[in-house]
Amino acid sequence: MAAKKLQIALYWGAACGGCDVAVLDTNEFILTVGEAADIRLWPIAADGKYQDIEAMADGELDLSLFNGAVRNSENEHIAKLLRRKSKLLVAFGSCAHLGGIPGLANLTSKEDIFATAYLGNASIEPGNRTVPHPKTQVNGHSLEIPAFYRRVYRLSDVVDVDYFVPGCPPEPSQIKNVLLAVVKGELPPKKSVVGASERTLCDDCARRKTEKKVKRFYRPWEIIQDPERCLLEQGIVCMGPATRSGCGVRCPNSNQGCRGCYGPAPGVVDHGAKFLSAISSIIDSKDPKEIDAILGTLPDFIGIAYRFGLPASILQRRHGA
Ligand code: SF4
Ligand code: SF4
Ligand code: SF4
Repeated sequence: MAAKKLQIALYWGAACGGCDVAVLDTNEFILTVGEAADIRLWPIAADGKYQDIEAMADGELDLSLFNGAVRNSENEHIAKLLRRKSKLLVAFGSCAHLGGIPGLANLTSKEDIFATAYLGNASIEPGNRTVPHPKTQVNGHSLEIPAFYRRVYRLSDVVDVDYFVPGCPPEPSQIKNVLLAVVKGELPPKKSVVGASERTLCDDCARRKTEKKVKRFYRPWEIIQDPERCLLEQGIVCMGPATRSGCGVRCPNSNQGCRGCYGPAPGVVDHGAKFLSAISSIIDSKDPKEIDAILGTLPDFIGIAYRFGLPASILQRRHGA
């Protein structure tokens, strides 16, 4: 008798689609997934219906990969639905893992977002004050759309998550490893960050490291870099000291500073605070005015240090947002 196929769902919350594309980037491997598994829901690729998932028995799905953050009531509803119906629920990619790029919206308010998108937008008809409402009456009928939340959440803020796959997006090799581990029943302990290491990115980076002392920070285009030497030592922002390794040191190997998409290194509570501590130790001055001037060459600290994880940070959001 043929082995029972795995039952799988993929879903995107507040996402850009890159995580779904990364699944397709597994190339011919995706065809072997099709042989070993029935994909019961994958909104970006197939016309699945939520009712079909609701009609399933609890735990009927073997695995659900949830990418994207939780931004609205539909995202939360599907997160809870997939949690109920799935033996294993995976937060897949930086947005589901840590809040990701959408999480930077926690620096502003729902009102400001609506004002920018629907009221102050040059493409809106002058005077039009229409903003989305969860319920609208039209010709005696009630129309409903998802409610937009005041802030962005990571998946583990709304449901219990079994595994975390980091990356923006995760590497295709990680995706293969996760699926193969499920097929073979060789999963690591629950709550593990799968496809990542227990080291920092600096531990795995082959760039030459000497003494880190900087008099200013540079954007990548402001300096001709030494391709062999640590970027941070050259004043080029790199989140390597605070970031979990496992991506193959992708960005520094391409002459770009790490932006931290794998999230905080093991044992680090707050990714941005750890990075702040790292750069504080390399500033080559004891004079407060000069230190201020050096820090002034570091543009958009929050956008750098919390690019992928503001909702997972200690602060989580701007006060009042
Ligand atoms: S983790 Fe990156 S690639 Fe995936 S949905 Fe979020 S922004 Fe897109
Ligand atoms: S700071 Fe960046 S470039 Fe320097 S060793 Fe760490 S990962 Fe490599
Ligand atoms: S180097 Fe940093 S930003 Fe680049 S893929 Fe790795 S963890 Fe992500």
